[in-house]
Amino acid sequence: SDQIKVGIVGYGNLGRGTIEAIKKCSDMKLVAIFTRRAPESLSINEPNVEVLHISSAEEYKDKIDVMILCGGSATDLPEQGPYFARMFNTIDSYDTHAKIPDYFGMVDEAAKAGGKTSIISVGWDPGLFSVNRLMAEAILPSGETYTFWGKGLSQGHSDAIRRVEGVAGGVQYTVPIEEAVERVKSGENPELTTGEKHRRVCYVVAKEGADRAKIEQDIKTMPNYFADYETEVNFITTEELKENHSKLPHGGFVIRSGKSGEENKQIIEYSLNLDSNPEFTASVLVAYARAAYRLNKEGQAGAKTVFDVAPGYLSPRSAEDLRRDLL
Ligand code: NDP
Repeated sequence: SDQIKVGIVGYGNLGRGTIEAIKKCSDMKLVAIFTRRAPESLSINEPNVEVLHISSAEEYKDKIDVMILCGGSATDLPEQGPYFARMFNTIDSYDTHAKIPDYFGMVDEAAKAGGKTSIISVGWDPGLFSVNRLMAEAILPSGETYTFWGKGLSQGHSDAIRRVEGVAGGVQYTVPIEEAVERVKSGENPELTTGEKHRRVCYVVAKEGADRAKIEQDIKTMPNYFADYETEVNFITTEELKENHSKLPHGGFVIRSGKSGEENKQIIEYSLNLDSNPEFTASVLVAYARAAYRLNKEGQAGAKTVFDVAPGYLSPRSAEDLRRDLL
């Protein structure tokens, strides 16, 4: 068939979401999932999909058109990104903002050496939000761009809560402060720090006999994570944690408020409201996988970001169809 043959590296939240996202695309076929763990230890029931150890990926060089890298940004991708870019067209969701330039350089070198195309830092932020920040700024050079996150579950902050003494479990939601949002939407162009834009709401399960007042204090004063924010701590039971907080919702919005001439205020807004952050992020990765495949066919080797990919490459439909129906 002329379907695009896709592989997945890493079976976590994003890996699972990618399986679902590929099923929605009739022009794509999932060939194999690669993992560092023992493949038979993962209970994956996908007919016609191989589950293999990551060390056998090289043998699939001619059987897979695009590899979707679903590892974490902290330690997996800095290693897996350049390694796979040498052998496959790749997509990843590298999101350590400060290190993106270095990561781009490493992947670019590897991809060019192998004649492959790698689109890095794909997802919603970085990703779709980045595209919207760029467009808004280019269109309204005189103005301010604001990014608000949430309401959404932050994995990093939830991990931080769970490291506090006396805590058995917990989650943290990042919530935009309504008043700040309203000021921005009114075109006031306020100066706001991240802490003035967001509050942090925690749901915590305390260990038996633990000092709750101390837990609350330890969370609220934790540097970098909570100290600079308005933080709320709610104690709940293990059952409530499981029942009400096991999904991974997220979202947010990018707003640019500026003036076109001397007088007229113009507001651009793009927003996302997501039941599942990883499943949505995976859907973005899959659309960009189609683009990587096509760019490579055109001989455009090397690393790319969402800024380098024209929107038409994301769609399975022909340019002619798109002009007729969506323009
Ligand atoms: P996970 O922690 O679920 O998975 C990361 C890797 O850890 C997997 O690829 C897997 O590798 C391994 N792993 C997963 N579960 C287990 C387990 N139970 N035991 C041992 N190893 C396991 O991370 P997510 O999928 O939630 O997120 C991945 C990355 O996605 C994040 O680091 C973030 O950078 C990025 N992201 C980006 C977004 C964006 O908008 N750009 C939005 C959301 C996420 P293996 O199978 O090889 O063991």
